[in-house]
Amino acid sequence: MKLPVADGPALRRHTAALLRRHRRGLAGVVALHVLAATAGLAGPWLLGRLVDGAVHGTTTSAVDRTVAVLVVAVLAQTVLIRYAQRAAMVLGETVFADLREEFVGRVTRLPLSTVERAGTGDLVARTTTDVDRVQYTVRFGVPRILVTTATISLTLVAAVLTSPLVAIGLLAGLPLLLPVTRWYLRRAAPAYLRESAAYATLNGTITESVEGARTVDALGLGARRRARVDADLREAFAAERRTLGLRSVLFPGVDTSFILPLVAVLAWGAYLVSTGDATVGAVTTIALYASQIIQPIGELIFWLDEIQVGATSLARILGVADVHADRTEGDARPGADDTDVRADAVRYAYRPGHDVLHGVDLALRPGERLAVVGPSGAGKSTLGRMLAGIHPPTGGSVTVGDVPLVDLPLDDLRGHVALVTQEHHVFVGPLADNLRLADPDADDAALERALRAVDAWDWVAALPHGLATEVGSGGTPLTPAQAQQVALARLVLLDPHTLVLDEATSLLDPRAARHLERSLSAVLQGRTVVAIAHRLHTAHDADRVAVVDAGRISEIGPHDDLVAADGEYASLWRSWQRE
Ligand code: ADP
Repeated sequence: MKLPVADGPALRRHTAALLRRHRRGLAGVVALHVLAATAGLAGPWLLGRLVDGAVHGTTTSAVDRTVAVLVVAVLAQTVLIRYAQRAAMVLGETVFADLREEFVGRVTRLPLSTVERAGTGDLVARTTTDVDRVQYTVRFGVPRILVTTATISLTLVAAVLTSPLVAIGLLAGLPLLLPVTRWYLRRAAPAYLRESAAYATLNGTITESVEGARTVDALGLGARRRARVDADLREAFAAERRTLGLRSVLFPGVDTSFILPLVAVLAWGAYLVSTGDATVGAVTTIALYASQIIQPIGELIFWLDEIQVGATSLARILGVADVHADRTEGDARPGADDTDVRADAVRYAYRPGHDVLHGVDLALRPGERLAVVGPSGAGKSTLGRMLAGIHPPTGGSVTVGDVPLVDLPLDDLRGHVALVTQEHHVFVGPLADNLRLADPDADDAALERALRAVDAWDWVAALPHGLATEVGSGGTPLTPAQAQQVALARLVLLDPHTLVLDEATSLLDPRAARHLERSLSAVLQGRTVVAIAHRLHTAHDADRVAVVDAGRISEIGPHDDLVAADGEYASLWRSWQRE
């Protein structure tokens, strides 16, 4: 299931709102470009006057004056273009920064359950490829479209003002330009999408084959992989031919339609001069306008093409906002000392109709250690996520002090139950900020207490700037064990009464594990702990053990009782001991 994509009306509404928010910047950029384009129009007009002067007789000083004005106009145009371009780039960056911030805001508010269901690949593609594409369109496209539109419209106006009759010749290109461009734009977007998809697939196939070279070799899959690569290459080739075919119609068509107005203005103009309806100067001016307008029209067509790709990406980026929240906050809050977490008839399905939990009842006893064991795929992690309120259950409920976990605001929820996994992240920035993610109001003394609790204060104090040291990529690197301690210190700051540990220590470096286990047990002190156990010695030390099998708790009780009962746990325990 993919994340949603915004539809046309939503896209237009959003773009309009975005432009409205930046209307002052936009107005400034347009004004500067209009001035620059106007200065650019002076050249052909002055040259036309010069020609008329030469026809009707003029003085050297008049020519000198005209040339001087021409030089001033060119200089003015140069300076104006510089500022106009600068303003347009600044506007592009501002709009893009706005979009990016909105997007990050949306992504961080996405319900975790949705991201998991859609797969992180889709989201990563949207944050990288799609953002890059929109960035290109906004940074360069928006400014250039403003420039070219302003130039084209002003040139046309100037031509009509010079001589409406001669200006009619400018229309000669349209009967060719419009159909060719329409024909191309209709076909371009799907063709280019197919092309990029073909290259993405080809890339994937080749990377897989290279990375899995040993496996390919060992299983004798060489011929099959080659056939796959060949098929992907054929598709990429076909897609490339298709777009090349489109371009080979567009370019000659467009080029011809650019020459036509020039030819028409000269021929039609010559006729008008012969009948006395136009001056040679006016024809010169408009012929120069006709050649001046070619480049902006070509560029505008290019951007109309590009903007389609940008719009597709923008629709994917905006679509993220259409994800419905997976929970609605209620008003009820558990009492201050109410730390009873219980699951009642909890069901969960990642895909509708495929329950992986089939009605689990579990009442945690405050302060106990509960180990959850069972075969792989039995639903242990899923149960852990339910108990931590990560996903709303599809049936039944998980409550703390009789209030469903998913009715609590997220900040509140994390103060009750937290999930600890083997994943831990260090964010770029000062170490103190990394810790304050858990509690934005914590002062330095509180941070120090948390770090001391997990036995990490010694190395933090030894860092060049202590808590203010920049960590993460580009800053001071932290070892995996240190990163894990930072994550544990965050938990101390968060101070939940119940912790769900999902393989929290399984990826640890064995040398660091001892030390970290001490840090971890300091954090666990005085809290209710649900430990999803993959090594049964964790289960042995727990107060109770719950065996999860095929989405149900099949046995629950203290280790010794379960061994004595000689059920499933007893056989797991015996086989683990034999290993
Ligand atoms: P365990 O932790 O006991 O190994 P899990 O809770 O991870 O088991 O998985 C229980 C079942 O749910 C498995 O059949 C697994 O394939 C399925 N499952 C787990 N995560 C997802 C997911 N994100 N989407 C779809 N199915 C999933």
